[in-house]
Amino acid sequence: MLQFKHSLLLLLLFHTAVKAETVANACHQISDKLSSVSYKECFSNQLTNSGHSSNQNLPLLIKEYPPLNRRKPQARILILGGIHGDEYSSVSVVFKWMNTLNKYHSGLFHWKVAPLINPDGLLRKHSRRTNGNGVDLNRNFSPGNNKSASLNYWKKRTRNDKRRYPGPSPLSEPESRWVQQLIEDFKPDAIVAVHAPFGILDFDGPHKAPKHLGPLHLKLLGTYPGSLGNYAGIQLGKPVITIELPYAGIMPTRQEVSKIWVDLVRWLKRNVKSSDAKKQLVKAESDITTKNNRID
Ligand SMILES: [Zn+2]
Repeated sequence: MLQFKHSLLLLLLFHTAVKAETVANACHQISDKLSSVSYKECFSNQLTNSGHSSNQNLPLLIKEYPPLNRRKPQARILILGGIHGDEYSSVSVVFKWMNTLNKYHSGLFHWKVAPLINPDGLLRKHSRRTNGNGVDLNRNFSPGNNKSASLNYWKKRTRNDKRRYPGPSPLSEPESRWVQQLIEDFKPDAIVAVHAPFGILDFDGPHKAPKHLGPLHLKLLGTYPGSLGNYAGIQLGKPVITIELPYAGIMPTRQEVSKIWVDLVRWLKRNVKSSDAKKQLVKAESDITTKNNRID
């Protein structure tokens, strides 16, 4: 029995070591590619291997900033970077925001942050928009009832633009399957997706969109079948905030990175409450009403 326990412990230690090594390898590759993210910065974030891999078998990493004891989070927020592998700044900026969260996570929100959804696209010699299978992940989500909508749109409207290939069928790619599963399991109340290089802010879903976040002003671009905005914003009715940084290869200034973050958190705080939090609020309000009635 003791020996069994020993083996189990060794196996557990081995698994933990393998996982840490996988994250270390990924961080080496990310910091080799992105001049604004150092190995130390990447590794010290304690990203975890989600257990899911890309088409080319690279690990899909995630970091959770869980609820804290002292406070019930107002909502769950999911942040996604690097869905397009050639939008370097969209990964680096998410790392900068993680630095902020590492220092100041207050429990106001329950966050999950995945800085690089498309490692195949970023970490190849010549980075590209699509994944290892040549699929635009932001066209590979579920398009709703009409399963061929994404492919039809691609053929008719983009004239078979290779950079926007939605894949042979919705969710054909492990990266988009992972993100969609993450959305179903985590049930975020809002999703923030970072892209480049249009220098604007796009928005899908309910709620009044923010007018601007830092220097980025609202410009509604509309959605495409198979895009995250279409899937999560239109079909699931969740607010999807798409941040389009001004340059794919040049970072915004530190002040801009910080201003976008501060405005984003402020907007989320004012506008996004999870259904559980809302229920609690209604209960608290009805308690107050009851009390007041009693006083009357
Ligand atoms: Zn993009």
